Amino acid sequence: MRPGQKRREHFDVIIVGSGFGGSVMAWRLAEAGLRVCLLERGKAYPPGSFPRSPYGMRHNFWDPHQGLHGLFNIWSFPGLAGVVSSGLGGGSLIYANVLLRKDEKTFVRESPRHGGYEYWPVTREDLESHYDAVEKMLGAQRYPFDQEPYRQTAKTIAMKLAAERMGLKEDWELPPLAVTFGNPGQRPIPGEPIHEPHGNLHGRTRLTCRLCGECDIGCNYGSKNTLDYTYLSAAQRAGAELRARCEVRSFWHEHDGYAVEYLDHSQAQEGEPPQVPLSRQAVSIITADKLVLSAGTFGTTYLLLKSQTELPGLSTRLGTQFSGNGDLVSFVSKCVQRGQRGYEPRLLDGGHGPVITSSLRIRDAAQGGTGRGFYIQDAGYPEFVNWLHEGLNQAALTHRLARLGLRLAQGWLGLNKDTDVSAEIADAIGDCVGSSSSLPLLAMGRDLPTGRLSLNDAGMLTVDWKMRGSSSYFQRVQRTMARVARVLGGRFIQNPLSYLSRIIVAHPLGGSPMGRSVAEGVVDSHGEVFNHPGLYVADGSVLPGPTGVNPSLTIAALADRFADHLIEHSRHPTRSRVSGPPEPVAVH
Ligand SMILES: Cc1cc2nc3c(=O)[nH]c(=O)nc-3n(C[C@H](O)[C@H](O)[C@H](O)COP(=O)(O)OP(=O)(O)OC[C@H]3O[C@@H](n4cnc5c(N)ncnc54)[C@H](O)[C@@H]3O)c2cc1C
Repeated sequence: MRPGQKRREHFDVIIVGSGFGGSVMAWRLAEAGLRVCLLERGKAYPPGSFPRSPYGMRHNFWDPHQGLHGLFNIWSFPGLAGVVSSGLGGGSLIYANVLLRKDEKTFVRESPRHGGYEYWPVTREDLESHYDAVEKMLGAQRYPFDQEPYRQTAKTIAMKLAAERMGLKEDWELPPLAVTFGNPGQRPIPGEPIHEPHGNLHGRTRLTCRLCGECDIGCNYGSKNTLDYTYLSAAQRAGAELRARCEVRSFWHEHDGYAVEYLDHSQAQEGEPPQVPLSRQAVSIITADKLVLSAGTFGTTYLLLKSQTELPGLSTRLGTQFSGNGDLVSFVSKCVQRGQRGYEPRLLDGGHGPVITSSLRIRDAAQGGTGRGFYIQDAGYPEFVNWLHEGLNQAALTHRLARLGLRLAQGWLGLNKDTDVSAEIADAIGDCVGSSSSLPLLAMGRDLPTGRLSLNDAGMLTVDWKMRGSSSYFQRVQRTMARVARVLGGRFIQNPLSYLSRIIVAHPLGGSPMGRSVAEGVVDSHGEVFNHPGLYVADGSVLPGPTGVNPSLTIAALADRFADHLIEHSRHPTRSRVSGPPEPVAVH
């Protein structure tokens, strides 16, 4: 150290990012007795802090160059758009809670030389115990569809019926969800206080799921068992230091370990671009024996691409094996069913219930089906979306309001003696059939991992991915979604973006893939970067192909496996899994 230079803080491990990879790592490593510092660029979100007003939503995006420090980070690449999150707990803050295991037969081992696309250097068997551990920690519960009031959930009833009518009853399920519907051993009841043995890092009481459909914009009741309430609270109790609002800009090798440079946004003036450009703001540097990159598919691959020159011998596979996990959103609209007086609207009520309650599997060739398999799930939404939907038909709304105005005026002028106008006001709201009998459907599956992430001339992340490469997969998905619409007596509405050969991806995967050697991947099957001992990647970027199902559980299970390896190869003595629960400290 040079004279006058400030002593740098040193940790056993620095973790960048607090999503499924980073949070699992933080808890496992801290619990093993390692000194852990986790750096997360986004804010902490205690119950009640997720914005709901139009003004709040306007500021709820991530772009600190423009003074935006919110939850949603949206990317628009040539062939696709991607949605990721920024906040303590990463994608868990905005995800739909589904925790499904990747099917055993889809851990494929293909050879590119023989027309293959992906090689998984781990098997389902390797991950089974890790899946168990994560599922337990995330408190998975299935939607209690056999009990009141949950059994009345219209979209779940409809999806079950669709599966039956399509002859796919065996492949329909209520997937495990990381949501608390009821306290252990008690009947589930919406809105009850959740009993937590150790409290949580926000120091706030949580409530059981109130079925408000707001999972994807942040649950203000704390009903989702997000990473901040589970892994990160436990990590903090075990002594991990969690630094929110700290964005990592770069890292490099230093002595036997790694140095990390980050920008602390905690004093940032929000809502307007910073007066001093971010590139000229003071940064902090900390060091560690080991570094874990868990900034997500986009974040980690970007950091590695930016640092390539500092990392000699890094695999040339960096950026490859990207896929959007076959994501496709479409809609069923205006569903009808036969009633006593002919056809009547079939209620789907997408604003009621958690965002996803059920999952329909369309089997892969490896599972006894044909082609590449996929899943279709009900994609609910917050109730206010229904009001927006109804308000969209301005002409009809204006006509109804004019009719109400006329009726009120008749009463005021004494031309109508009926002073009860309740029915007339109800009439002004409309029949609301359009919003209540329509529902978005979300599909995901085994798309081809042929995309590539790189930096463009401006040094920004970009993706080379084209829908046409996977056209037969997407056509099959669309045909099946159209069938769901048909058996529910509705119309199928394709996502308008798919006419432009574009998709919106909620599950970006790959970019820093696992492989058997540096020629095949960036990291080995334990998450350690080839030729860079002590540098790990633990997040969605390591997946060499799509999970098919929703990926978070697999990302978390892999991180749990990688943690075993890191602990085993740690210089410091480590302790067993059991740790005491110190009082939670608020994270700002
Ligand atoms: C609307 C929606 C619904 C979804 N529903 C489901 C679902 O039901 N089930 C499921 O399995 N998956 C779901 N997903 C996908 C899931 O959220 C992601 O697959 C998962 O979060 C990826 O985990 P990760 O660890 O790779 O990264 P992330 O969870 O994205 O975490 C990365 C973290 O790193 C931080 N970060 C990035 N760059 C930096 C930096 N430079 N410095 C510091 N911090 C940084 C980010 O802020 C973020 O917190 C959904 C996604 C969306 C958008």
